[in-house]
Amino acid sequence: MSRIDVDEARRLWLEASDDELRELAQGVRDRFHEPDRATYMVMRIINYTNICVAQCDYCAFYVLPNQEGGYVLSRDAVFAKIDDLLTVGGDLVAFNGGFNPKLPLDFYCDLFAAVRERYGDRVEFYALTIAEFLYLADRAGLSYADAAARLRDAGVHWVTGGGSEILTEDFRKRHAKFKYLVSDYFEAQRAIVESGMRTTATMVIGFDETLDERLEHLQRTRDFQDQCLADGHDGLFSFLCWTYKPYGTAFGGREIPAGEYWRHIALSRIFLDNVRHVRTSVLTLNEDAFRALEYGADDFDLPLEDEVTEKAGARIDLDLQRLLEVPRGLGYRVEYRRAERPAALTA
Ligand code: SF4
Repeated sequence: MSRIDVDEARRLWLEASDDELRELAQGVRDRFHEPDRATYMVMRIINYTNICVAQCDYCAFYVLPNQEGGYVLSRDAVFAKIDDLLTVGGDLVAFNGGFNPKLPLDFYCDLFAAVRERYGDRVEFYALTIAEFLYLADRAGLSYADAAARLRDAGVHWVTGGGSEILTEDFRKRHAKFKYLVSDYFEAQRAIVESGMRTTATMVIGFDETLDERLEHLQRTRDFQDQCLADGHDGLFSFLCWTYKPYGTAFGGREIPAGEYWRHIALSRIFLDNVRHVRTSVLTLNEDAFRALEYGADDFDLPLEDEVTEKAGARIDLDLQRLLEVPRGLGYRVEYRRAERPAALTA
């Protein structure tokens, strides 16, 4: 199948049956991966601080500065969480927290350098999301290129595309007006790529976004990746989509059905024909996430912890062996995938 445009994607979403979408998505998946193989990682998200000034209305995690209940994890607490992850066989950490005005970029560079020094390549870590990176670079008065170089020199290999939710300016105005402009998001992500670090694409569905907003998000993501590849960069390693958890948030709402998520994964797999991995979200969908492997996904995380989504209603299942039986039961050979050091940073 050749590349589809937004009009064709809209038509597929509105008119194609589940079987048709699944078949088309499998066709694109097969270009990159063996049909019956799925890969996974065991990871934990470490939420180093819950203090945040961004005030996104879909977030149940943050407290404002000077409100009760705010915290910043000590370095020992971070190390203890990583040690715990290693004990159960995991090797990926994702650092994610609020926009805490008391923590400058130097704080993070020191933390990440300490993690790299203590664990070397035994643990890979996603240092920040693009959203946090934007906040820290702006507060430090640094260009995105200079801020990216500071992180890379501190031992960081990955800054993920998290904090994107839905990448349209309208969505940001409705729900996260203090966060960033979409144009800034991609400019920062480009600086990450050019620094030699790697990045990923993410998306969250199930707020009040329209179909056109979902399609705009996919189009901007594909355009970004096209440009990276044309300029000789690897660009986006993967695309991960998860579902909004509405409990305890100011915005509220309801969870979308798993079937809608599976269809969206299929549409994303078909549309993002230039991104190698499409990842499904066990964090927010539990066992239901694995059916997305039949709709074009090829990879997933088994998370131990994420306070951000848990505060909004996510329920994390720590019986990893039982979870792995679900994709096996669907006919997949599941294999552990170690996080890769980016080629540009290979010693
Ligand atoms: S989603 Fe992130 S940036 Fe937005 S309020 Fe929550 S912690 Fe802050």
